[in-house]
Order: sequence, then structure tokens, then C-alpha cells
Amino acid sequence: MNFISMNLVTMMYLIASVCFIQALKGLSSPATARTGNAFGMSGMAIAFVTTLALILKLKAEVEQGSMGFALVALGVVVGGGIGATLARKVEMTKMPELVAAMHSLIGLAAVCIAVAAVSEPHAFGIAGVGEALPFGNRIELFIGTFVGAITFSGSVIAFGKLSGKYKFRLFQGAPVNFAGQHMLNLILAIVMVGLGLVFVTAGGTEPAWLPFLVMTAIAFVLGVLIIIPIGGADMPVVVSMLNSYSGWAAAGIGFSLNNAMLIIAGSLVGSSGAILSYIMCKAMNRSFFNVILGGFGGDAAESGPAGAKEQRPVKSGSADDAAFIMSNAETVIIVPGYGLAVARAQHSLKELVEKLTHKGVTVKYAIHPVAGRMPGHMNVLLAEAEVPYDQVFEMEDINGEFGQTDVVLVLGANDVVNPAAKDPKSPIAGMPILEAYKAKSIIVNKRSMASGYAGLDNDLFYQPNTMMVFGDAKKVIEDMVKAVD
Ligand code: NDP
Repeated sequence: MNFISMNLVTMMYLIASVCFIQALKGLSSPATARTGNAFGMSGMAIAFVTTLALILKLKAEVEQGSMGFALVALGVVVGGGIGATLARKVEMTKMPELVAAMHSLIGLAAVCIAVAAVSEPHAFGIAGVGEALPFGNRIELFIGTFVGAITFSGSVIAFGKLSGKYKFRLFQGAPVNFAGQHMLNLILAIVMVGLGLVFVTAGGTEPAWLPFLVMTAIAFVLGVLIIIPIGGADMPVVVSMLNSYSGWAAAGIGFSLNNAMLIIAGSLVGSSGAILSYIMCKAMNRSFFNVILGGFGGDAAESGPAGAKEQRPVKSGSADDAAFIMSNAETVIIVPGYGLAVARAQHSLKELVEKLTHKGVTVKYAIHPVAGRMPGHMNVLLAEAEVPYDQVFEMEDINGEFGQTDVVLVLGANDVVNPAAKDPKSPIAGMPILEAYKAKSIIVNKRSMASGYAGLDNDLFYQPNTMMVFGDAKKVIEDMVKAVD
């Protein structure tokens, strides 16, 4: 089975790494995202086939036959089958949950590999039969294990909070706080690191199992404790932070297994996740530590019809009224939000924009970085309907235009246009918003006066130049299309 040399393995891993870097570059813009995805898939295919070939080679070399290829094949078929089925079925709005669930599996895989490597280091080529784990590998395994364990349990909680389907208290969007929480976390973290050091420095050929296992258990508990006080509205940052953790866990295990591919891919995921977390914190005007320690978004559980806060008068109109106003405007900016994704109204929206453009109206889309339920959600949604990229503008590029715009059409968006962000006393104070409130006329479509994800009332809806059009976004937009005709 020596059909693949280590030089060839290194070469293939290098090619896969270049593909991954190209994937990240491509994914940085909607126009190149498809190419980026193709690079990512190619890189993963190369890495996967090379690793399988490497396993075959090592299996042939290792007499004990401890690397059961059949088990690997079974894992590929079962895991790959479940992954493919889930990915085919998942709705776009449920994507963040799927991502959180996947991160949990990466974390768990890191822990399982670490436990196996501590138990049978010779099977991984880390030490000879009967020899102790080298000092350096013990450090790597310690780090990979605790980061993996925190990623696993933290991602399970994030999954529960994002899905909002489970009654279990820890899975609710509202933060779970108790007295002395931060102190408890600190003590657990110190004990965890202390036990890790005992494991790393212990002598003898047998690994120090007790400190290792207790350290792992504490890391699982810490993952839960770190995520439960975080409110629903901060979940985007949490998901990308866990994404980063899962990458570092994989990289840590890559060092132990001496696998360059895992180190490179893990570092790419780790650093890109950290950069994304930073960008999102900036988009929500939150400091990273504020997110980790905070409880913002605590009212999220109140969203939905019951979340309406005030009984102030609002002006409402029909889809026909809205179509009339837009047809007579020169400029229209459309602000899509989570509700548009729920209603799956992107195709009808494209049709509406085509009709308005045909009538000589200049129409643009304004995208907020955290509109929807995952980074880039609105870009993906509009790309699915084949909206031309040159009509789609990021927040910083379009915010200056709202003041001179005739009509802003807000579709199923709420928090991302909430002027409360300008009020220093508001929980979302300082969060950059799309400045829809500055437009000459504002049309807002949603089903009720319920609050958005952050659980806050929105003054935009009560402005004298705002008209609410209540109803499901798809139905309302279809009615607008007919009326424009
Ligand atoms: P919001 O959640 O603030 O508001 C969405 C609005 O859509 C709701 O007020 C709801 O009102 C309305 N809606 C729901 N269903 C429909 C429908 N079928 N037709 C019409 N309207 C509908 O969304 P935004 O996009 O404005 O803001 C995103 C929020 O989500 C931010 O707080 C962000 O922090 C958070 N978040 C973002 C993530 C990301 O990475 N992008 C990830 C996780 C959270 P009603 O019920 O009255 O219809």
C-alpha cells in the first residue's frame, strides 16, 4: 500500500491549504462567493482523499492493525450521509443552528482524539509502545482537549438558544445569571489549568488520567457556564467565536498528531472566526468582553406578538398604498431583514424591484451586517433570487444616502433600523443602524407591532412619515407587484 510517499502527502496538503486560503478570499465578497465555495470544496476533497490514502499507508506499516480502515469508512459513510441530508434539508433561517451543531461536533471530535492519543500514543505515532507521552505532546493534548470540550458544550447551548424550540431553561434566549457567576467561572478556569499542568508535568509511563479527566469534565461545565449568561441578540458573535474555538481545537490536535493539514486548516478557521467576531462586535458596537460577560438581549424571549411594548398610535396602509407611493418616487431603498427570510419573499421582491425600475424608479438594497440570523444572511438571500450585486449596498456605503431618499421600504427588519441605538440609555446604544429614519417616507412591512430579536420597541414605526403595512412579507410584496402593474 505504499503508493503514496510522505512527500506527496505534504504536496497535496499544501495544495489543499492554498485552496482553503483562496476559499476565504472568495467568500469575502458576494460576487466571488461561489468561486470561494468551489475552492473550499476542492481543498476539502484533496485533504480528505490524501488523508484516507495516508491512513491506508500507515495501516500497512503498523503491524497491530490498530487503525481499522473499515471503521474509518463507516464513519465517512454515516457522518457524511447525516451531514449531506441535514445540509440539503436545512432552511436558510435555521443555518446558524446547524453551524452551532457542527461546531459542537468539531469540539467533541477534538476531545475524543485527544483521549485516544493519551490512551494509545503509539497508535498515533506519538510515542513507541510502552513509552510515556512526550512533554510537548502532553501540552498540545491538554490545550486541544479543554478548548474542544468548551467548544462542544458551549455550542450545544448556543444551538439550543438559537433554535428557540426547547423549553429547557438553559436553552432560552434570555440570559441565565446567578450571583457569583463570574467568580465561579474564574475559579473553575484556574482549577482546570492547574489540573492540566499536573497532567503535563506528571512523570512515569502511565498518563495522569485523574487530573486529565477531571480537567476535561470542568472544561465541559465551563463551556455551558460561559454561554448561558449571553442573551439571544449577542448569539451571532458567540457563534463566530465558537467557530474560532473549534478551529484552534483542531489546530491543537493537529500539532499532537503532527498533521500539517489539521494545523493549517484549524488555524485558518481559528483566525477567520476571531476576525469575524471582531467585525461583528464592531457592527453591534459591543466590546468582545462585554459580549462574553454581558446579558444584553435578555428580552429576546419576549419577541413575537406578545413582545409589543407600547400602545402608541401608528399609521397603517395597504400594499396598494405602498405601491402607489413607491411608483411615484424617484429613489427607493429596500431594507431586508429576518422577516423577509422567514417569508421566503426574495423572489417576489426581485420582481417588485424590476417593475419599479421599469417605471424609472432608482432602487437599491441596503444590507446591515447582522440583518437576519447569520453573517451575510441577506446577501445569500438576495443572491438566491439572482438580484444583481451592483444594486446591493453595505451599510457604510449607503447610510449617507437615506437623507436624500424618497422612500425606504423596510421588509421584515426591526433591530437593524431601530433609532433607539442613538439613545445612550438604550441596551443597543451605539450599535450602528441603517439610518432609514432619515428618509422622506418610510414604509414598514411586518406582521404586527412585535419587537425584533433584541426585544426592543422601535420608534421608527411611530414616526409621522412612517406607514406600516401589516401582513406576511410574501403576500404583501405579491400584492405590491400586482398594484404596481
Ligand atoms: P429582527 O429580528 O430585529 O426583526 C425581524 C422582524 O421581522 C420582526 O420584528 C418580525 O415582526 C418580522 N417578521 C417575522 N416574520 C415575518 C414575516 N413572515 N413577514 C413579515 N415580517 C416578519 O430582524 P433584523 O434583521 O432587523 O435584525 C437581526 C437581529 O437578529 C439583530 O438583533 C441581530 O443581532 C440578531 N441576530 C443576527 C444574527 C446574524 O448573524 N445576522 C444571528 C443571530 C441574531 P412580526 O413578528 O411583527 O412580523
